[in-house]
Amino acid sequence: MQSHNVGTPIASSHALPQASKDTLAVLDHLIGTHAQRLVRRFYDAFLEDADGAAFLSHQMVETRLVHSLRQWLIDLFVSADTEAQRKIGEVHARIKLPFGLVIKGAALLKAEMSDLLIKSELDRAALASTLVFVDARMDWAMGLMSEAYMQGSMRRAQVDEAFRLFAVGQDVSLTRETQNAALMEWLQSILFPLLEGTSNADLVPLAKSTFGLWFHHRAGLIFQGAPGLEVIHSNLKQIDTIVLPKLQESRPTNGEEMRKLLARLRELVEEIKFVLSDLFQSIAGVEGGRDPLTRALNRRFLPTILGREVSIASSTGTPFTILMIDVDHFKQINDRWGHSTGDMVLQQVADVVMDTVRFNDFVFRYGGEEFLIALVEAGVNEGYEIAERVRARLAERRLRLSDGNHVQVTASVGVASYSGHPDYVQLVDAADRALYEAKHSGRNRTVVSQEAFAGTP
Ligand code: GH3
Ligand code: MG
Ligand code: MG
Repeated sequence: MQSHNVGTPIASSHALPQASKDTLAVLDHLIGTHAQRLVRRFYDAFLEDADGAAFLSHQMVETRLVHSLRQWLIDLFVSADTEAQRKIGEVHARIKLPFGLVIKGAALLKAEMSDLLIKSELDRAALASTLVFVDARMDWAMGLMSEAYMQGSMRRAQVDEAFRLFAVGQDVSLTRETQNAALMEWLQSILFPLLEGTSNADLVPLAKSTFGLWFHHRAGLIFQGAPGLEVIHSNLKQIDTIVLPKLQESRPTNGEEMRKLLARLRELVEEIKFVLSDLFQSIAGVEGGRDPLTRALNRRFLPTILGREVSIASSTGTPFTILMIDVDHFKQINDRWGHSTGDMVLQQVADVVMDTVRFNDFVFRYGGEEFLIALVEAGVNEGYEIAERVRARLAERRLRLSDGNHVQVTASVGVASYSGHPDYVQLVDAADRALYEAKHSGRNRTVVSQEAFAGTP
């Protein structure tokens, strides 16, 4: 075992596993002789895998990747460049290669190399230390790659989300009108020459029209995987690959066939219009990400915003506090004056809350008459002060009713401060429990979560 010592034990997950000169020489020879076979096996398996085949073509493998993987193997066991491994992880993240495939590929290479080593003429001790080293070095590379991969894909997810918020925030009703008009314009551009029988010009595919381009590049971002997108996509494809080519063929000779095709075309376009209108309807309520009644942020943005604030708090050490506010006995307002007056009151409650917190804080409508406030860069004391200010202002404010009378309401507040736990849901739950306590100890009061202080995991 002496001469083939695996070397320094692994100190951290990214410390480079070392090997003796002899072990490195064995591997150098092994890769020099068998690289071709290793690389082939790897890509054969990759291309057989349905997920893998979706990413790579045979041609790409032949022209570029066979060489790169061979070089990677040599580098891994000879130069062992940390940066190179990270770069590969970043590229994988950028092309959205599922990381499972990378892990599978590494396992396959390990198995192949082990197989070759076992069949070689190494003595038992040398074989053992070489196998251990191959395993450790491969895991070292996977560790670096996966770290870079995660960082890369998190950055990408944040950018995607930011762009989506931006896209949703754009004037939704204007986009709706513009795209409807663009769709109709395209239909006219097809129908007119066909009906007039004047032009022999090629029919422009819907996918290449203004509407088609918008649908292809923007709609996915705005409507985020809504099932309606699939319907539009399929209609668009039918129009471009079946109806239009047939129309082109049948004109001007076959009037009956053409009428049928035009009817089908109108039907498909009508369905696109219908589904699109539904899609726009579904986001109209959260135009700009805000709840239409209270103008508070829609709670579907909670994960993005709280997740981000928690990571800012953890990396910069600045405090972060959330408030959970629930109006007391709100049901009685509805019962006494009706639901629409209840809505009116709720709107004014939201105004008080939003006017009291600071400009950069986030106010979400969390539930019916419940608000969640993310107080950025505020510790528990400041959080308590702000909570009390909201509570006091609300209690003294006279809220208008539809009959001209006024009513006063109170609210209970739960406060929880970021305690180092990376999952923002823990923080929300702690604030929720504090709110529950405020309700049960008499309402119209603020309770601070003690869990956050203790830094409970
Ligand atoms: P407490 O919170 O003090 O325990 O009593 P509560 O009566 O407020 O009870 P709870 O919070 O459980 O119920 C909230 C009620 O608020 C139930 C529902 O009728 C009413 N509510 C929720 N959302 C709306 C809304 O958007 N508009 C109106 N008008 N009422 C709402
Ligand atoms: Mg309530
Ligand atoms: Mg409630």
